[in-house]
Amino acid sequence: MSVLINGKELAQKIRLGLKEEVEVLTKQGINPKLAVIMVGSDKASEVYVRNKSKACNEIGIAFEEFLLDENIKMEDLLSLIKGLNARDDINGILLQSPIPKHLDIRQAFNAIDYKKDVDGFHPVNVGKLAIGEEGFVSCTPAGVMKMLEEYNINVEGKRAVVIGRSNIVGKPLSQLLLNANATVTICHSRTQNIKEITKQADILVAALGKPKFVTADMVKEGAVVIDVGINRNEEGKLVGDVDFENVEKLASYITPVPGGVGPMTVAMLMANVVKSAKLK
Ligand code: NAP
Repeated sequence: MSVLINGKELAQKIRLGLKEEVEVLTKQGINPKLAVIMVGSDKASEVYVRNKSKACNEIGIAFEEFLLDENIKMEDLLSLIKGLNARDDINGILLQSPIPKHLDIRQAFNAIDYKKDVDGFHPVNVGKLAIGEEGFVSCTPAGVMKMLEEYNINVEGKRAVVIGRSNIVGKPLSQLLLNANATVTICHSRTQNIKEITKQADILVAALGKPKFVTADMVKEGAVVIDVGINRNEEGKLVGDVDFENVEKLASYITPVPGGVGPMTVAMLMANVVKSAKLK
């Protein structure tokens, strides 16, 4: 039986700590504020934005939402971002993805002032992470590292395998694990004999978006298993990328879905907004 890494509880603890920090900042006249831009309507995005707004409220971070028409022109989106970059009262700018296909999301992310890039997607922050400099780190990978730290899971010298190489999860998480002195292997859709690789992992991260992809025969006994995936199964239930029931029998630590990595992502976003306010 494995130890369950309780992301929900941990995220709550982080949020309480941030609330206290914000109270101190407010007394010093610093009022952290997050601006969220959403283009068009997307059910999942609406839920994510609502969760972020709730978390801000709870912590005392001001929240301003910009709901843009789905037909907005690229130049108008860029002009909004430019305006938010210039606003002194805003510490964090977040562009909720996905955005409509006619818009260039990379160009939009790049337009956000990297000092307000609380999602850690700007090339300057991506580069800082790569060379081990302080910057804003993408929230989900940062949340995973925080979980490992809080559960005293030693990363140094360990063999870490990350399944998934996206710019928002797989790549930055691999970089963080490397910076923490793990020996890192990244698997992706073209990886051959994936089971042989995952079987060697002391720390196995699934971030691919395929329900129950990681089965017990892919996991070494005693491995730490982190499930980043968020999928809906046939019954509409939220499930991760790991076959939890079978894998938990042999893992040393495991994250559940829901209640694992998900809540940590929002908590780390809040931490980035507070950090940005403090840096300013
Ligand atoms: P993504 O951009 O779709 O990337 C998926 C990655 O998985 C790609 O690198 C892909 O390889 C790889 N992959 C796909 N099928 C594979 C297979 N059969 N074997 C090995 N690798 C495979 O997804 P993402 O944005 O990184 O998100 C991944 C999952 O995490 C999703 O379920 C998403 O909902 C979830 N997520 C959760 C949180 C959270 O807060 N918990 C945050 C973000 C994302 P290629 O590069 O070769 O295509």
